[in-house]
Amino acid sequence: MLGWALLLLWRALLLRCPRCGKGKIYRRGYTMHEACPVCGWRFEREEGYWTGAMAVNLVATELVIVAVIFPLAVSGAPAAPMLIIGLPATVLLPILGYRHSKSFWMTIDFLLNPTPEMFNY
Ligand SMILES: [Zn+2]
Repeated sequence: MLGWALLLLWRALLLRCPRCGKGKIYRRGYTMHEACPVCGWRFEREEGYWTGAMAVNLVATELVIVAVIFPLAVSGAPAAPMLIIGLPATVLLPILGYRHSKSFWMTIDFLLNPTPEMFNY
């Protein structure tokens, strides 16, 4: 089970289909394929499916910002460096992490809701 989870996380990191690991999730830039070009796995499972990806993106952004800003705040650093780092990060990190948040969301869905059709490839 752990090996399978690590494999799925690796596929998510590489932006590959969680089912087969061969097909690319994105056509180019931020444009996704509707389904895997190799195995045909439909990426958007239902309407509103990507809401979870937005949550993944939000949580990841907040974790990174806290990991950077919290030590500065605890050390008594002046507010200016924290604002200079923190404010652009709140805008840029969700944009930079958008593609991977969808990929990791599909992996989370695979891990939490395994169905037989996931393994029929
Ligand atoms: Zn696939």
